[in-house]
Amino acid sequence: MKKIRKNHWYDYLWIWSILYFALGFFNILFAWLGLIDFLLPLVFAAVFGNKWFCNNMCGRGQLLWLLGRKGKCSRRASAPKWLSSKWFRYGFLAFFLTMFGNMLFQTYLVFSKAQSLKMAIKLFWTFKVPFKWAYHASALPDWSYKFAFGFYSLMLTSTLIGLICMVLFKERTWCTFCPMGTMTQGICQLKNKDKKEN
Ligand code: SF4
Repeated sequence: MKKIRKNHWYDYLWIWSILYFALGFFNILFAWLGLIDFLLPLVFAAVFGNKWFCNNMCGRGQLLWLLGRKGKCSRRASAPKWLSSKWFRYGFLAFFLTMFGNMLFQTYLVFSKAQSLKMAIKLFWTFKVPFKWAYHASALPDWSYKFAFGFYSLMLTSTLIGLICMVLFKERTWCTFCPMGTMTQGICQLKNKDKKEN
């Protein structure tokens, strides 16, 4: 008899993925909330030594699956093998971390007043898109806005890459080289190696 899986609250976290971009579209400061998505998979992997977060709680993974499978937006074709190869996964992770470091440096430049705040996001680390409407002046310093524009750009770019891969290949092809997935896998491997040795 087929076992029926009970739905959990965390099955609906794909809504959060949409909400995140919608909130940031109107007020860029909401982009800071993306840090939760950034840190949680790492915390789960470090504490439990498994990919439970990826398999159950990642809103982006759920969204790609829903659009691809239920929304029939995916060709469901096999992705080229190199996309999931070790060199590509680690190469992409290195590139992603370099871009993240650059974003932090740009934030520092605004913090140190060496650069002024530009109200724009950068897609695919290349195309500048004006985003003035999402800026609402407050008592917060300019660097907090700079970080928000940078982080929103990063989140949007990676989601767009995920969506393109979802359309062209299988639903969750992005997950095969997602930097968070690569990092969590690395942490799990280290943790499980430690367990075996002890
Ligand atoms: S690999 Fe990345 S996108 Fe996929 S479930 Fe894990 S954190 Fe989410």
